Amino acid sequence: MTTKPAATPARATVYGYPRQGQHRELKKAIEGYWKGRVTADALRDTAAKLRRAHWRQLAGAGIDELPTGDFSLYDHVLDTTVMVGAIPRRHREAVDGDPLDGYFAMARGTQDVAPLEMTKWFDTNYHYLVPELGPDTVFSADSTKQVTELREALALGAAARPVLVGPVTYLLLAKPAPDVAPDFDPLTLLDRLLPAYAEVLADLRAAGAEWAQLDEPALVQDRTPAELQAAERAYRVLGTLSDRPKLLVASYFDRLGEALPVLAKAPVEGLALDFTGAAAANLDALAAVGGLPGKRLVAGVVDGRNIWINDLAKSLATLGTLLGLADRVDVAASCSLLHVPLDASAERDIEPQVLRWLAFARQKSAEIVTLARGLGRGTDTITAELAANRADLASRAHSALTRDPAVRARTEAVTAADARRSQPYAERAAAQRTHLGLPLLPTTTIGSFPQTGELRSARADLRTGRIDTAGYEERIKAEIREVISFQEKTGLDVLVHGEAERNDMVQYFAEQLTGYLATQHGWVQSYGTRYVRPPILAGDISRPEPMTVRWTTYAQSLTTKPVKGMLTGPVTMLAWSFVRDDQPLGDTARQVALALREEVNDLEASGTSVIQVDEPALRETLPLRSSDRPAYLAWATEAFRLTTAGVRPDTQIHTHMCYAEFGDVVQAIDDLDADVISLEAARSHMQVARELAAHGYPREAGPGVYDIHSPRVPSSAEAAELLRSGLRAIPAERLWVNPDCGLKTRGWPETRASLENLVAAARTVREELSGR
Ligand code: GLN
Ligand code: ZN
Repeated sequence: MTTKPAATPARATVYGYPRQGQHRELKKAIEGYWKGRVTADALRDTAAKLRRAHWRQLAGAGIDELPTGDFSLYDHVLDTTVMVGAIPRRHREAVDGDPLDGYFAMARGTQDVAPLEMTKWFDTNYHYLVPELGPDTVFSADSTKQVTELREALALGAAARPVLVGPVTYLLLAKPAPDVAPDFDPLTLLDRLLPAYAEVLADLRAAGAEWAQLDEPALVQDRTPAELQAAERAYRVLGTLSDRPKLLVASYFDRLGEALPVLAKAPVEGLALDFTGAAAANLDALAAVGGLPGKRLVAGVVDGRNIWINDLAKSLATLGTLLGLADRVDVAASCSLLHVPLDASAERDIEPQVLRWLAFARQKSAEIVTLARGLGRGTDTITAELAANRADLASRAHSALTRDPAVRARTEAVTAADARRSQPYAERAAAQRTHLGLPLLPTTTIGSFPQTGELRSARADLRTGRIDTAGYEERIKAEIREVISFQEKTGLDVLVHGEAERNDMVQYFAEQLTGYLATQHGWVQSYGTRYVRPPILAGDISRPEPMTVRWTTYAQSLTTKPVKGMLTGPVTMLAWSFVRDDQPLGDTARQVALALREEVNDLEASGTSVIQVDEPALRETLPLRSSDRPAYLAWATEAFRLTTAGVRPDTQIHTHMCYAEFGDVVQAIDDLDADVISLEAARSHMQVARELAAHGYPREAGPGVYDIHSPRVPSSAEAAELLRSGLRAIPAERLWVNPDCGLKTRGWPETRASLENLVAAARTVREELSGR
């Protein structure tokens, strides 16, 4: 396939870049500043150096237009809050006193004031700080950060384009401030917000910006007519300003749908659209609206959320089709490269052959440059790149890692019956009652106990060879003995081994499953200075040997009470990893499910009668568009059932989820067919229990009565009160007593006191029930 050269050469650009630096310099500088070890000037200096280094990296790779303003000391939505002057009242004093300290106070809180709430940025694992707005919010423009960073980039002699969170997305992500009526709609502030944007845009123009990018990812979600009208108005107002740069309105993470015609008609000079995954539907939609005559189209054809190399020939074909649909077509990643690690070439432990399949931010930038060249100057200018890409894609497609015949055969042999328990819940419940002999309102925990410094140093000692495997296992066993004896003494009914051997609930299993890769430097920002290193689901998944059985059986050997086995479920194993892009997610989930099913069956065979399969991520990977949700929930719930359905009726399957709003997935929770579910509920006063009851949830549930996110110890009276309100929604025969989530982030003293109170509360309420 050859593409004819376009009239104007295509430009290569990106919307954002990883912030932290190859050695996480930014994290160290910020945390150093918090501890008083790094001065504000030194922190600003490190930040400016990193920005320069990243721009040089991008320009060196051939990126024509650099993004500016995407950098952040904590979060770009918080930066936008500062830009539009929407500082919450409780933080104003701190911000007025010292803008930098005030900024971190909004992000992290102080002794006296609570931080802004933090939540997930669309369906990524990045968290932003939620703007708090109200009818009294007064916006004012502060373009300092945007202008400074633009000037820094222009000083390097490069073309640069400021990137801002768009006004509609900013308002749609906001929530009513705590002292404001909860039904206040931030979008009503649009007309007041736009002048602040107008001022910033004018400042950017004056500072030399030819273009400015306004990110509107919120428009890829289902939107009401009123919200679409707000978008129409916003870009009519901003588009008709006289003193502004050219405007590029960017969308990503999914298709624009009904927002596409709105933006296509807006008086702005360009649109940036995602053409990867489900967003590929933008292609037909764009043709259907008659393209973008007279406008610039920036085509996100390189997946900005995953770590696989691009299929260059396929992207060129997409770009070729787009050429006829806009005045000019430029090439980009689908979204900011913030969501991928910096540089795959830093990885030393991944086989060279496999490393060639991976593209982190640096490699993706090079792909974008290659595609822009191929598009602008003809594919014969990139023959070598195309040939190498073809070879790498073929090596991946035919590798023994990605195609394990045994796994394929096992997956194909799965029948609908494999994903169904052999008896309906009512019969299972009776069998489990006899088998387990638990009291009314049984007490349990979610799995982990405090991860002490000693445990972490034991793991470090093992890594550095200071202790051997036998020595490490001895330390873990000692911890298990302590945790079991504590639970017996406290009077809990279903015990756990405490998960002392686990670093992380996904990584622990990923390390033991064939088909998963680990990186050494693949850090991705989760929030603020917290970075995670998601493992990579690279190949067909199998389980060479049992992963948890010896710890659970060791714990069980110490007590006559049932010890609950603990596994991370297939949906969460996908959600917190980089996933394969060469097969449907459902296929990957099914492979993981079959590997976990072997573990579940082995646990049962070795005498475990209660097995919990955690799915805290079930809700968070819900597709952004509601029309995509049924298909997702179908494979997600099937994978869970496939994991758990191979056990006897008298083996009790638990699951656990932790997030407050789960109204949208209550049917899916029912479809898991778990015998018992534990959920986060303490802070919302058992809201979850009422939602389950309203749905007619037929099985057992443990809405949490102890908020583990805080060091606060709930009194037994308080826990009892929560239980009583739980009982108004769930009958006593089906109500469990447990904390909201695992205890690994808590200290021992508060854990001890809280669990004692929890058991006391269960006893009190049991007595009340028997008196009735
Ligand atoms: N079993 C896990 C634990 O207790 C569950 C963690 C989670 O839900 N995130 O730590
Ligand atoms: Zn949890």
